[in-house]
Amino acid sequence: MRRARVLNFQQITMPYLAALVPPQWEVTHCDEAMIPVDLTAPVDLVAITFHTPSAPHVYDLAAQFRRRGIPVVLGGPHVTLVPEEAQQYADVIVVGEAEVSWPQFLADCEQGHYARRYAAGAPPALTHAPMARKDLYHRRDYSGGRLFATRGCAFGCDFCSLAVMYQRQVRTRPVAAVAAEYASFPGKVIIFWDDNLASDRAYANALFQAIAPYQKWWSSQVSIQAGHDEAFLEGAARSGCKHLFIGLESLSQASMNEVHKGFNRVEDYARVIERIHSYGISVQVGIVFGFDHDSEAIFAETLDFLEAVGVQQATFNILTPYPGTRLYQRLEAEGRILTRDWRQYNGRDAVVFQPKQMSAAALLAGYQYANRRFYGLTSIARRLSRSPVGWWWTAPLNLAYLAALRWRPS
Ligand code: SF4
Repeated sequence: MRRARVLNFQQITMPYLAALVPPQWEVTHCDEAMIPVDLTAPVDLVAITFHTPSAPHVYDLAAQFRRRGIPVVLGGPHVTLVPEEAQQYADVIVVGEAEVSWPQFLADCEQGHYARRYAAGAPPALTHAPMARKDLYHRRDYSGGRLFATRGCAFGCDFCSLAVMYQRQVRTRPVAAVAAEYASFPGKVIIFWDDNLASDRAYANALFQAIAPYQKWWSSQVSIQAGHDEAFLEGAARSGCKHLFIGLESLSQASMNEVHKGFNRVEDYARVIERIHSYGISVQVGIVFGFDHDSEAIFAETLDFLEAVGVQQATFNILTPYPGTRLYQRLEAEGRILTRDWRQYNGRDAVVFQPKQMSAAALLAGYQYANRRFYGLTSIARRLSRSPVGWWWTAPLNLAYLAALRWRPS
């Protein structure tokens, strides 16, 4: 089984790829965070998508299916980042985004001859992106909506695997198609699984107008630019936005500059959060610890700030140099990569590189302190008392994080 990160939200990659499979194929889907893989399943072909920390486990699954003579296709972020490695464990790999290469592979498969590698030359357009197959969703939150409107981000932060995978190209689905999928969900709460919904302002405005009549509540990830943009925030709020996730990453400007994310101006953070709150939208921030300019003071400094500005949620991460990123290349050149055991590249259980201003143990302890303090009852009460959205929205999420962090399996 794979472990869901903290909260157990539906992932959509495989139900989406299933929608690209011709109707004569019968598709079953195993969401491994929910149910174990049936290694004895009577199937003709297995396709698996995965991130770096799942790689050893997935290679083992692939070996077991291949021993039964069942061809295995591997794709997803880790395959795109290190294709040469993944190729050793698969009959076929799909490198990059799959909109063109996955149907091409299936067509070749029907002809009885397929290549060992299918690679998207350039990031594909999303003009004909289908709706994901909801009948293949497994998770408890199936009645709520999980979809995407855009893909990619124009920035190129050194630590970001998305920047490598999507080659900094932002693509959009047709607004009408997104609105139709948005409307198709029976639930009230929708999550856009976008990398940066604010990438294309004109597109975002059109989307907001199209989804507003459905009177649902939605959430998405955006870059900090969204927080400077009153028109974006107003349109978002009017269309039902209740929650935005922003990668603040660090309270140290030197750290942001170091990884080419200097457009995050630390001096603006408080103002941005206050502005988003003024539109009745709650804020979840992504925070990363372990940059070269981070000293041990960064942990308490960060927590003091998040509590003072009343951020509703935060996701803390230990800096992790995913293979293929500029950060990985730099740390490798400096001889600071401590392990290539991909299982440890999950940003929360282990430090996989030598930090500059503290020990690996101190970085791990600081990360744990941040989670404990932020999701302690005192901090929750203090932060949520300043929430622009009612407790009915923010308290369950905080309590879910608290429970998940206290009692998740190790
Ligand atoms: S802004 Fe966010 S999504 Fe875009 S490259 Fe930087 S870290 Fe990645």
